[in-house]
Amino acid sequence: MKFATKLIHNSSSKDPHTGAVSVPIYQVSTFHQENIEAMGEYDYSRSGNPTRKSLEGTIAELEGGSAGFAFASGMAAITSVLLTFSKGDHILVGKDIYGGTYRACTSILKDHGVEVTFVDAQDLQDIEKNIQNNTKGLYLETPSNPLLKVTDLKGAIALAKKHNLIVMVDNTFLSPYLQRPLELGVDIVMHSATKFIGGHSDVVGGLVVVKDSSLANKIYKLQNTIGAILGPQDSWLLLRGLKTLKVRMDYQQKSAMKLAEWLLNHESVAEVFYLGLQHHEGRDIHFSQASGPGAVLSFKMKSVELTKAFLKAIRLPAVAVSLGGIETIVSYPVLMSHASIPKEEREKLGITEELIRVSLGLEDVEDLIADFNQAMEVRI
Ligand SMILES: *Cc1c(COP(=O)(O)O)cnc(C)c1O
Repeated sequence: MKFATKLIHNSSSKDPHTGAVSVPIYQVSTFHQENIEAMGEYDYSRSGNPTRKSLEGTIAELEGGSAGFAFASGMAAITSVLLTFSKGDHILVGKDIYGGTYRACTSILKDHGVEVTFVDAQDLQDIEKNIQNNTKGLYLETPSNPLLKVTDLKGAIALAKKHNLIVMVDNTFLSPYLQRPLELGVDIVMHSATKFIGGHSDVVGGLVVVKDSSLANKIYKLQNTIGAILGPQDSWLLLRGLKTLKVRMDYQQKSAMKLAEWLLNHESVAEVFYLGLQHHEGRDIHFSQASGPGAVLSFKMKSVELTKAFLKAIRLPAVAVSLGGIETIVSYPVLMSHASIPKEEREKLGITEELIRVSLGLEDVEDLIADFNQAMEVRI
């Protein structure tokens, strides 16, 4: 079955108890047991809930995994995955990762005695040379935020297999529609479902998918023990959002391409970062492991003054953190997603004060370009 069909018809898309084509919101905490000696499938909603289960089954099927887990946020999902490592383990983490993940690695993991080395994930040699005897995992995000740097997943997986490392990929930016890391040999995929999967800027959630049953058992134990589960109402919102994932992303990526090309030709713009553009570094690798450029781009203006004037003058998009919603979101990484990274570190990553990130929504791109145009004309 093709991806678009799977979004609508999959083994979890109907309610097994009633046949309802939209799985109901099972707003319930506990389940009556007819026979105490043979408990039913559900006993308590932290351990399992039918609405959450439908979402977990759906994401597992879409990512090509065997088990899915829904958490209260992307960070709950990611932190739970990171907690599968134990004291004395060492893991390698790509430098260009989400700020919250950086915080989890440098605080919680450190406090638990898990050693972390940040590596340049664009460079397989840098990954390899940092592998130690106690290295157990490799954590990646490709394309990265906000400069869309690309990691060669097949190369990284080959390296990891040689050294018995668990490979984890945060697939938030592309969703399973455009990239399915498990199919390439990755062990664990994570999502901030707050972004493209939910798709409407109205729910915070996280998802984990694995193929291997012993990993599934570990994640389930953490989900059920820590209890950072996604509630039934929010699970339903993600199920609803997922049904339109493909049509949203198709439209949003088309708009991203148009906006990227327009930005490229604007006199106030110094540089445009978008995987749809021919010159983008790592583009060939990206298209060998993903089927589209995605709907997030970033660009640098020619001066900080122009950047600030643009951010004040832009009208249609939300100027906000987050991405993947139906409204275009413009964000300013140095004061938003990357504010906690020291200036020197940030600049080394290429995240400067002229950088703006855009996540395309479902507006008509002509209106967006007109708005970008007026905001670029503003001079201070
Ligand atoms: C937003 C985001 C997260 C964190 O997810 P929350 O749902 O906000 O907890 C993790 N990774 C990436 C790439 C993100 O964009």
